Amino acid sequence: MSRAAENPPRIVSCPTCSERVKWTEGNPHRPFCSERCKLLDLGAWADETHTIPGDAAHDAVSEGLQPDGR
Ligand SMILES: [Zn+2]
Repeated sequence: MSRAAENPPRIVSCPTCSERVKWTEGNPHRPFCSERCKLLDLGAWADETHTIPGDAAHDAVSEGLQPDGR
């Protein structure tokens, strides 16, 4: 049972804090080092998406496109 020694776990850098993380099945948060870093990263891009005022812009455009006098 010395097989594990021949296959060392891959080491990756946590995208959030650059900590070295073992990429193994035992790490459910990979490539992050912890659940905290995982949530921080997800929250970062989620915030960016929510700052885009898609609906407001769409409403303004549709109303502006309506021909007033034919
Ligand atoms: Zn981290």
